[in-house]
Amino acid sequence: MAKIIGITSSQDEKNVLTLGKMYIKAIENAGGIPLVLPVIHDNVNLIEEMIGQVDGILLSGGVDVDPLLFDEEPVPGLGRIDPERDVFELELARLALNKDKPILGICRGCQVLNVAAGGTIIQDIPSFCGDDKFFKHQQSAPRWHVTHTVDLIEHSRLAEIFGTTLLTVNSYHHQAVKQVADGFVATAHSRDGIIEAIEGVKSRYAVGVQWHPELLWEHHPHFTKIFKSLVDICQ
Ligand code: MN
Repeated sequence: MAKIIGITSSQDEKNVLTLGKMYIKAIENAGGIPLVLPVIHDNVNLIEEMIGQVDGILLSGGVDVDPLLFDEEPVPGLGRIDPERDVFELELARLALNKDKPILGICRGCQVLNVAAGGTIIQDIPSFCGDDKFFKHQQSAPRWHVTHTVDLIEHSRLAEIFGTTLLTVNSYHHQAVKQVADGFVATAHSRDGIIEAIEGVKSRYAVGVQWHPELLWEHHPHFTKIFKSLVDICQ
């Protein structure tokens, strides 16, 4: 039986739900059944039941996390936030971690995972330590093109998944993990020191990556491995 991977979605100011189709294709390609999860936030008790309906969770990319949720005031470089989505995804991620349900976070999803577990976020990389101190993490190249290097920690889950400690990835973020949550470790960094991946130490599978593998795998097939790792652990 194919396993069901719930994929969180975005909502815009007109209350239209959106999700990049490449997330769906990536899970389908990995042999999982993609199931799009809408933002629910009024009856949070239903989120626990929602988790019961899926075998694994993929937290998709999107807008910034509200800094008040990790006890920081907003800096001028903060982008759009979606309080309803924050409520939903943070509860979803906390429950998934508590229940040891496999969870993969991509970009915003990596940040949500870290905040859900008690960590913090760099709200805006350029204003955090100056434009010249960091690489370009908002690439202008095609979305499938890899633009910077990440070094994976040896023997980390990601190093095992990819069979290497060296990757080149795409980059579409102006935020990043700052303080890694208790129970998590940073397992990938770009060479300017930005954290590019985190992993739950004791979790069956709790992985967050800052890059967008769903946009890469068609051109760079080794990125299918991360989606396969999520689907396979659900078996
Ligand atoms: Mn990056």
